[in-house]
Amino acid sequence: MQIDLHTHSNGSDGTLTPAQLMHAASVAGLDVIGLTDHDTTVGWDAAVRELQTVRRRIGLARGAEISCQTDEHISVHLLGLLFDPSEPKLATTLATTRDDRVPRMHAMIAKLNLAGIAVTFADVEQQVATGATLGRPHLADALIALGVVKDRGQAFDQYLNNDSPFYVGHISPNPIDAINLVNGAGGVSILAHPGANARNDQISETAIAEITAMAESGLTAIEVDHRDHNPAIRTQLRRIAADLGLLVTGASDFHGTGKLNVLGENQTSETVWDELVARSSGVEVIFG
Ligand code: AMP
Ligand code: ZN
Ligand code: FE
Ligand code: FE
Repeated sequence: MQIDLHTHSNGSDGTLTPAQLMHAASVAGLDVIGLTDHDTTVGWDAAVRELQTVRRRIGLARGAEISCQTDEHISVHLLGLLFDPSEPKLATTLATTRDDRVPRMHAMIAKLNLAGIAVTFADVEQQVATGATLGRPHLADALIALGVVKDRGQAFDQYLNNDSPFYVGHISPNPIDAINLVNGAGGVSILAHPGANARNDQISETAIAEITAMAESGLTAIEVDHRDHNPAIRTQLRRIAADLGLLVTGASDFHGTGKLNVLGENQTSETVWDELVARSSGVEVIFG
């Protein structure tokens, strides 16, 4: 089985519509795809509708990638899968995060304008699908359209990365709260790419302590096999997962043409997938 549990559509910062993503999954030969747009479930219905028309029988795990922040303001991404989207506390938290991304975008634009880069909010809005979660990649796309940078990668390297003077954060839940919200809505929670920003090829002691606290709060799995993890990080994360009794997943984090990541390039085992489904009760897996 070909199982890829972490992908983005243009419901957030991917470049394919949810419908196009289902077809791309079919062409890529996937048996299971997770749709995990940032802080939203907006693409779920369109993906479900389109699934009936793809050539291959595919299971769709509906989910979201929740932007979180630790109390020390470290960014953490949490994948929630198979949760009930109408659970009010979770829905409100996601909406609050999405809403705050608008003033956050204005603040980043203001900083760029002060540095002489004449990008406007209207320029960014042109890059965002209706109803999608607004993010830095849309600002990157606006900078590309203006000829300031050649691609998203250059935009992040020069202007938009977390350490840049133009970076502004947004309201987001603590990862422990997010785990409780996802689990409370009948979902399973997966710590996304925890080694993506690791320094010196090492998960820090601080990060291990945080992952331990998340495990104690009901975290289900760690995403180990991910493009942004080198072999040393993967080995270390597998050991941490084993020590904490957590499942291990892998996924592409596909963003269409917004990133180099290719559908199915990293995958989750069938055993782990079955276990994730068994532990969830929010929504069913949809089969096309
Ligand atoms: P935001 O959610 O607005 O904070 O933006 C973060 C998103 O930007 C992440 O989900 C990434 O997918 C995307 N991103 C981060 N770095 C890069 C990069 N170098 N190239 C393309 N996309 C990136
Ligand atoms: Zn993204
Ligand atoms: Fe992420
Ligand atoms: Fe992602």
